[in-house]
Amino acid sequence: MFRSCAFCNTPFDGDGGPSGLGVGRRIAFDEWKGRLWVVCPRCSRWNLTPFDDRLERIEAVARAAQSGRVAASTDQVALIRWERYDLVRVGKPLRIELATWRYGERLRNRQRERMKVVVPLTVAAIGLGIAANVAAGGGFGVIVWNIHRAVDWVYLRIVGSRKVSLIESPICAHCGSIMQLRARHVQHARVVPDAHSDMGVLLSCPRCHQEGAQLTGIEAVQVLRQGLTYLNLARGGRRRAEDAAREVDRVGGPDHLVREIARRELPLRALRPERGLALEMAVDERAEVQELERQWREAEEIAEIADGTLGSSTLVEEELRRLKNRDRDQPSG
Ligand SMILES: [Zn+2]
Ligand SMILES: [Zn+2]
Repeated sequence: MFRSCAFCNTPFDGDGGPSGLGVGRRIAFDEWKGRLWVVCPRCSRWNLTPFDDRLERIEAVARAAQSGRVAASTDQVALIRWERYDLVRVGKPLRIELATWRYGERLRNRQRERMKVVVPLTVAAIGLGIAANVAAGGGFGVIVWNIHRAVDWVYLRIVGSRKVSLIESPICAHCGSIMQLRARHVQHARVVPDAHSDMGVLLSCPRCHQEGAQLTGIEAVQVLRQGLTYLNLARGGRRRAEDAAREVDRVGGPDHLVREIARRELPLRALRPERGLALEMAVDERAEVQELERQWREAEEIAEIADGTLGSSTLVEEELRRLKNRDRDQPSG
């Protein structure tokens, strides 16, 4: 039965929603190739669904996706939120639809995460405050207002001192120390153009405050995500999702925004607030949808074999024909 992950054995979550499969909360589909997968909640691997009625199921999922909202997309993969399901549409080029809501959703998630720390802290602090207040016989309102500020400050400290998780800590080229980066240190880093990938991050050393190491690829993204989360929180205010969305839109999408910021080589903390938030959103979304694309490519290889549509003979034939043509076009001698 199609109830649990074929890779790690974890039971699927969700009820399959529009797919009618009875299981799955994150469902991936390819209308062109007629593929339907349930994505494992634990290991994120894509489980190809049984072939019977698959086409009708795909049609139903695609219909739901039409009325869902595109959270992020690459040329090939779109992550669509519909009711409580994540629908992942793959396999055909899609127009990137930039919408304010997706930024709003991210901000709401962050707010929820914040409340997990702030609420218990506030409760504890108010308890202490009342005790102190009763003892001192002072005004209650002032104390509550101060507690609110103190708790915000504590929360900011917590986020700022989170270790930046890198596989290996970079070594400062200037003073030779191992850089022990915390999220708050990243605000001094600069996004710069890189010859081999679309951007690099030039890190400032927490010890000597000189620029001592450059990261690229996944590590650069990792550092940016943590650093920007802190920076955008520290700048406080109600950074509106619309402003960030408009900022991304204005420069022509997330990729353009990253490139534009890299071109100017400013330290992160010198970015305008809405731009800082826009960069954080852009980096986050690119990371998520790129990971989905990677998973899809892996899943598609398996699907080709499973569905028996690999057509390897055709591929071999094509390759032979290509080689033959090349030999003919370039006579030896
Ligand atoms: Zn699994
Ligand atoms: Zn240093």
